[in-house]
Amino acid sequence: MRKLLIAGNWKMNMDRGSAVQLAQGIAARAAEFPGIDLLVCPPSIYIAPVADAVAGSAVAVGGQNMYHQTNGAYTGEISGAMLQDVGATYVILGHSERRTLMGETDEDVNAKLLAALNAGLTPIVCVGEILDQREAGQTPQVIRSQFTRSLAGLTAEQMTQTVLAYEPVWAIGTGKVATPDQAEEVHADLRKLLAEYYNNAIAQQVRILYGGSMKASNAAQLIAQPNVDGGLIGGASLKVEEFLGIARAGM
Ligand code: PEP
Repeated sequence: MRKLLIAGNWKMNMDRGSAVQLAQGIAARAAEFPGIDLLVCPPSIYIAPVADAVAGSAVAVGGQNMYHQTNGAYTGEISGAMLQDVGATYVILGHSERRTLMGETDEDVNAKLLAALNAGLTPIVCVGEILDQREAGQTPQVIRSQFTRSLAGLTAEQMTQTVLAYEPVWAIGTGKVATPDQAEEVHADLRKLLAEYYNNAIAQQVRILYGGSMKASNAAQLIAQPNVDGGLIGGASLKVEEFLGIARAGM
């Protein structure tokens, strides 16, 4: 049975004090959600204080990005080992904001993914179509292409250590959530791709999160879908009640 993962992507929000406060608020109530993995991904500069704030609770901490090199002359970049060093155990890779605003390609995501696994982090690899692609009926091809290119060269074992996130770009930060059927259709396709490229046992093991305007009021129906194993949440992860409301919807 796959354990649900409820992950908050705090993006470039908050200051140090409010980040620590939010982390403490979530950690204080984490024991109410024994069957669910909780993860918060603050801005990288706040990972260390947030990791301190959740220490002793079941809340994990992750980065929102990393560089694929281990060290060297890469001004402004952060390695997987550095994320680990300050308390992160997960890292989000290939978020659509990085793909569109920072020009990250599937090949970049792939290099980061292999580096993240080598650093012992659990990567969360995001895929998702833009609205034009959905309206043109291209979603399955877009997802297949992102899947094969972003995950190229992953061994079966590495695949089981990786989390996937389906994040339709038109649903991110827009308030326009995918319907449970729309989400399930793509999640089921992703699981079929896992079976095709690996095998059925691995396909059944890998967690696939939904992301895109998920909140406490719409989470239950999404999480109830057989192939939806939790959520990657942006805006609604910035408030304790709303974030834990999503976790509660998975109980
Ligand atoms: C995200 O950024 O991964 C996301 C899903 O954002 P939101 O929940 O705000 O749509």
